[in-house]
Amino acid sequence: MLILSQESGTGFITTCSKSGVVALTFDDGPGPYTNILLDYLSKKKIKATFFVVGITIKEYPDVLKRIFRDGHQIGLHTNTHPHLNELSYEQQKDEIIQVNNTIYEVVGVVPNYMRPPFGECNEHCGELMKSLGLTVTQWNLDSGDWRYELLTSEEQRYRILNNILSKLLPSNSKIDSFITLQHDTYRYSVEIVPKIVEEFEKKGYAFKTVAECLGNKVLPYKCEGNKNLTTKNRKMNNTGTNNMKSNSKNNMNNNINNNTKNNTMSKTGGGKNVTSGSAPGSSNNRIFIGISIFNAIIFGLLSVDG
Ligand SMILES: [Zn+2]
Repeated sequence: MLILSQESGTGFITTCSKSGVVALTFDDGPGPYTNILLDYLSKKKIKATFFVVGITIKEYPDVLKRIFRDGHQIGLHTNTHPHLNELSYEQQKDEIIQVNNTIYEVVGVVPNYMRPPFGECNEHCGELMKSLGLTVTQWNLDSGDWRYELLTSEEQRYRILNNILSKLLPSNSKIDSFITLQHDTYRYSVEIVPKIVEEFEKKGYAFKTVAECLGNKVLPYKCEGNKNLTTKNRKMNNTGTNNMKSNSKNNMNNNINNNTKNNTMSKTGGGKNVTSGSAPGSSNNRIFIGISIFNAIIFGLLSVDG
């Protein structure tokens, strides 16, 4: 039985920093129903946040590309969706590196935000995420969709809406804000999004990504290697990784980026490609660059933190 035991820790996010906004978040995808959701969000011009899993990206890489192209925020949700607290430090780190590499290979970005599977991230897990420059993003409005897989469609709809409305209706958009929890891997959950959106609109909430609802104090990505990625042009260009953004608003990330540039490129051997750009071309180059960036980030941090 799935149990979502949302844990809180230093720096963990459960709500927005601005009132009157809602960040719709969807976990566990991309999946077979994500495109239905993307069609709707596109029609409504709503940007959401997707916490994606490495192994599902490999099944639906084109859907992840569309999520990115449509302007939604991508956060990471580990590679295999394990209970992080049951893993060793090395295994936890591997879960993050793997999903990061997969995201980078497909859309060329390195997320700053993560959500732990089942909301489980104890003190040790929290410290690791912090050391990796990741903002742990929980929620304050659970749709409960993951509980209702075996119910009739009518009951699924009723219970999800009831969960949302029980907090939304008594709320005040002048002082409240929400980060929701849904899963785009359930068709019934995707199909009820228009009704949920309608209810938020009635109460006067504006839709934002997680980073936006936090005032972009931490940008969505550590770097955006190939922002102009299209399905036709998937080659890493010479300037691709030169677009790595220094997040001046976030000292932690500055430390990562600076450390990446200064301390670790020589250690990884592949780092030169990161700053000078690789020859345009093969997917191997892209994968290699992605791995290099993550090795650089990880090893760089380790050298700082001892
Ligand atoms: Zn999940």
